[in-house]
Amino acid sequence: MYKFTRVFRFKFFNKNVLNKKFSNNANNQNVSTNCYDVIVIGGGHAGTEACAASARMGARTLLVTHKVETIGEMSCNPSFGGIGKGHLMREIDALDGICARCCDVSGVNYKVLNKRRGPAVWGPRAQIDRKLYKQAVQKELFSIKNLDIRCAAVDNLLINYNELEECGKRCEGVVLQNGDVVYSHTVILTTGTFLRAQINIGLETRPAGRVGDAPAIALGKNLESIGFRMGRLKTGTPPRIAKNSINYVGLPLHYGDNPPIPFSFMNENVWLRPEDQLPCYLTHTTSRVNDIVRENLHVNRHVTEEITGPRYCPSIESKVLRFQAKTHQIWLEPEGLDSELIYPQGLSCTLPHEQQEQLVHAIKGLESAVVVQPGYGVEYDFIDPRELYPTLETKRVSNLFFAGQINGTTGYEEAAAQGIVAGANAAGKTVHSTLPSEKQKLTISRTEGYTGVLIDDLTTLGTNEPYRMFTSRAEFRLTLRPDNADIRLTEKGYNYGLVSETRYKHFADIKRKLELAVSCLKSLKRHSNYWRQALGLRLAKNTIEKSAFLMLGITADGITVDQLIKLYPQELDWLENENIIKQRLKIEALYDFFVKEQMQEVEDVRRDECLLIPTDIDYFSRTLSLSNEERQKLSMIQPQTIAAASRIQGVTPSTIVRILKYVKRANLTPSNSSNTI
Ligand code: FAD
Repeated sequence: MYKFTRVFRFKFFNKNVLNKKFSNNANNQNVSTNCYDVIVIGGGHAGTEACAASARMGARTLLVTHKVETIGEMSCNPSFGGIGKGHLMREIDALDGICARCCDVSGVNYKVLNKRRGPAVWGPRAQIDRKLYKQAVQKELFSIKNLDIRCAAVDNLLINYNELEECGKRCEGVVLQNGDVVYSHTVILTTGTFLRAQINIGLETRPAGRVGDAPAIALGKNLESIGFRMGRLKTGTPPRIAKNSINYVGLPLHYGDNPPIPFSFMNENVWLRPEDQLPCYLTHTTSRVNDIVRENLHVNRHVTEEITGPRYCPSIESKVLRFQAKTHQIWLEPEGLDSELIYPQGLSCTLPHEQQEQLVHAIKGLESAVVVQPGYGVEYDFIDPRELYPTLETKRVSNLFFAGQINGTTGYEEAAAQGIVAGANAAGKTVHSTLPSEKQKLTISRTEGYTGVLIDDLTTLGTNEPYRMFTSRAEFRLTLRPDNADIRLTEKGYNYGLVSETRYKHFADIKRKLELAVSCLKSLKRHSNYWRQALGLRLAKNTIEKSAFLMLGITADGITVDQLIKLYPQELDWLENENIIKQRLKIEALYDFFVKEQMQEVEDVRRDECLLIPTDIDYFSRTLSLSNEERQKLSMIQPQTIAAASRIQGVTPSTIVRILKYVKRANLTPSNSSNTI
């Protein structure tokens, strides 16, 4: 484990953080017990996954966050998952993360979205009871060995200037607001919307990370003074409405699925009975809402300023101004089983309180609604994610990682997915310190998961608006399905030390049964004529043999595994009560042909991902003959592989060929590591 044996030259950036209590000597007796392998700053969705991952790997971990009661807080919508986001949750779960399991014990309405399309793009989603979710997360964290939690604000990072480091700087701990210094081998920053944040309602503005929480001003200045490229983004949240003040008559009701589908691979059922799920209601805005928005632009600071807001989760003001549609959908969603509040999804708004009430009252069913808490907007600093490697370690300061909304994303799931990757890699620097440096890393490729797509998009392309996940961002949608996230990631996570023995055994059992079932169905071969008769299928009349597996995959709503069990009881009887295997078998069969087709493209990308670009490559060298734009972009982003370089906008295919030749000349051996790209 990490020990301080040398005297370091520390620099505290900006203002009065140099605390006399601590000398520059890290061996100071006062702090010798104040030392961790990993410190995670922030107990939101990235931070909770990061600290849980790090501690699971056996690293001595400290979570420093403002308040214990806001650990796992859902700052905005009371829901998890959805299209693309549900994929991320399945992947987090496959890596033994906590959010999926916590949603399985706190959801109040579970629904798989996009059901009319293929299972590859289904979006598991649930309305969540905020209170129960937070309780579940806290219960998980409080029971993890190796994890300490401290409620405090971090004001500064402890940076050691060391010429021996490749980037010249190393993070070695944090300075708290009260002046205490806590040392660590690695630090992960997951401060969400808090960096130099302010909230806006109408023309009023005040410093806050979200309502009721102070912003992280000093830390924002600290990061700027270190030299990180930073930008400003904004987001917003709707007013909350008293449940009993709504007139539900005539509003369409939407129930959860029966049976509700759990998020976690570890669960066959969720915690509540199908009939106990709470419904959501749908209503619409009226033309009066549009008028109120337009008439009050002069008192709406958040909307009129230049900072970019979330394109895919826009405020009602942005929708009115941008889309010109007459009405917009508003979902009335419960905040929890015993909550008196309703969350009007789609009504994010930053008008002054009085005008918000007028706006709410102009909506069907909400004519007499009581606004318990007004909506508000928040503006905050984010870091250009191209400052990061795919491990989420910063290029500028070694042993410092960023995860979550600080990297320009929006959403709990995007934050959590980054958190688990950062947590694993930060811990890997200690627990795998005896391995070669590439083996110390856990990266996920675009070919392996939406998590890989998310991180590659961020670190290669950057973002200038809050980034959220969609299935359309992934090029290998047929392979990266929610149902097979465990097959894609659990073994990899287990080999890295991130996945527990219990999870791995559970996974191995499912995998074994699935493989057995597939090979069994593949071995059951009959002529088309047989299948025509036995299953009533419209097949061409011929004597070509086709397997039961092929028949199962013919159509989504056609043949079922149960039909095949009836035909072949002797071979398939064992599947009778294996509901999960039966569902997965059907999906495997449906996609078998397409996945095989896609494998060549997957292999091409994997090959390019193995072609590492040397870190000392000089993009300004004449031999590469790059355009100025390419030089600037490539030297700023420092793509690690040919695959990443080829995704940078403005870098032409012929440049990639020249870099490729350079790489080959440099005689680089492709990485064979299963853990690294
Ligand atoms: P957070 O969940 O914000 O957690 C940050 C944590 O860091 C907090 O616990 C905080 O106390 C702690 N912290 C910060 N600074 C320090 C410090 N210096 N020292 C110690 N602890 C610190 N997402 C959507 O998808 N759709 C939306 O419509 C949407 N609207 C939003 C509206 C608002 C007003 C807000 C605030 C957020 C909204 N979000 C929305 C974003 C969503 O809440 C985040 O994406 C998600 O919570 C990010 O997770 P995170 O872990 O990165 O940060």
